[in-house]
Amino acid sequence: MTPGAPSVRTRFAPSPTGFIHLGNIRSALYPWAYARAKGGSFVLRIEDTDVERSSEEAVQVILEGMRWLGLDCDEGPYYQMQRMARYKEVLAQMLAQGSAYRCYMSSAELDALRERQLAAKAKPRYDGTWRPEPGKSLPPVPAGIEPVLRFRNPVGGAVVWEDKVKGRIEIQNDELDDLVIARPDGTPTYNFCVVVDDIDMAITHVIRGDDHVNNTPRQINILRALGATPPVYAHLPTVLNEQGEKMSKRHGAKPVTQYRDEGYLADAVVNYLARLGWSHGDDEIFTREQLVQWFDLDHLGKSAGQFDEAKLRWVSAQHIKMTPDATLAPLVVEQLGRRGISAALGTHLESAIALFKDRCSTTREIADWLAMYFAPVTPSQAELEAHLTPAVAPAIETLRAALAAASWHRESIQQCVKDTLAAHGLKMPQLAMAVRVLVCGRAQTPSLDAVLALFDKDVVLARLCLRD
Ligand code: GLU
Repeated sequence: MTPGAPSVRTRFAPSPTGFIHLGNIRSALYPWAYARAKGGSFVLRIEDTDVERSSEEAVQVILEGMRWLGLDCDEGPYYQMQRMARYKEVLAQMLAQGSAYRCYMSSAELDALRERQLAAKAKPRYDGTWRPEPGKSLPPVPAGIEPVLRFRNPVGGAVVWEDKVKGRIEIQNDELDDLVIARPDGTPTYNFCVVVDDIDMAITHVIRGDDHVNNTPRQINILRALGATPPVYAHLPTVLNEQGEKMSKRHGAKPVTQYRDEGYLADAVVNYLARLGWSHGDDEIFTREQLVQWFDLDHLGKSAGQFDEAKLRWVSAQHIKMTPDATLAPLVVEQLGRRGISAALGTHLESAIALFKDRCSTTREIADWLAMYFAPVTPSQAELEAHLTPAVAPAIETLRAALAAASWHRESIQQCVKDTLAAHGLKMPQLAMAVRVLVCGRAQTPSLDAVLALFDKDVVLARLCLRD
């Protein structure tokens, strides 16, 4: 931090109007990572003023998704609907100081104005009828019309900002008409609330989706009218889905929490999303700690990121490998619980995780493997016919008898297998595949002795028993 500079304060300001997907939550990850990288604060603000479309359920998915991904906030959640009194106070203040004014133009008049402008091939905009100017006399106030409040936008000059993603953006003030900041019933409008909140919450860096670029010059003008210094802006390019469309529920995006349910690791999703619009050299796989150490606003990508589930799976597989078995264990227990299997934590479970995790991308896939240790398996008829051939069946009996007499650990199991192969003149795969199909329900597994050693001996003997 530069001495004397205010400490970094970032925010995530979602509208709870539909469940949050990975594309949206990236707009939480970046401000979170930046606040953590700079030792600053991260604020959560729920923008729930669109009461028709906002829902408590959507708020819960946001909170749950952020909790899962470890995007902890230092302040909030603030709810805009709970800040109405504050917005009204600022509206009154702007009216008193002349940076806002009452406009009595009816919607019919506004429509007529718009039509005239379109007919004259001009851009439709408010014409300033009710804007007070020195020496100008305003029309008589009509009876029975509740006015809106408009912001008195500066005339002439330009709004300029150095966007951390888009570079320098300059918008002429003459392009901007006087924005409605309060409706006839006195409720404040969207851009106004954002400005009041960003000022009150002392936000220093606004990191958000680039669908808000068009709002930014208006917000900067209102900020300045309120005597505030505009924050730094970083407008993130959209996240596209695999078909190249903007990621959205309508286009099949899943809620963030579904990735948790599918057994992705939170750190892997954080890693994947961080890379989808930001880079640190060629690093593809990094921990949360490394992200926090490295994250900056100077290496944000300029082009849209495209979601790629196969890449996410790959990143998740790398994190599964890196994550200690003891950390994976409760997640695997949870996944087993989802299929009605209750498994206990302990070294036995951890050894099983260690044996299978290298071939898995999610904790659900680990649970797919481990289920055979806790619940009966049902080999397919085709697998049984393919591997339990007349040549192999007698060897299964021999192996079963040998195992019944053996002590139960990897080396002794391996010896039983070897002796059986020698006695029946079989090759390892012939016997091993048949044993796997019977005991594990599938023909491919890691090393047979290691897999068997993790079962209870009785279970193996029961599954190898070919007589009814
Ligand atoms: N509520 C807005 C949205 O969900 C974000 C506003 C902002 O970040 O300024 O798109």
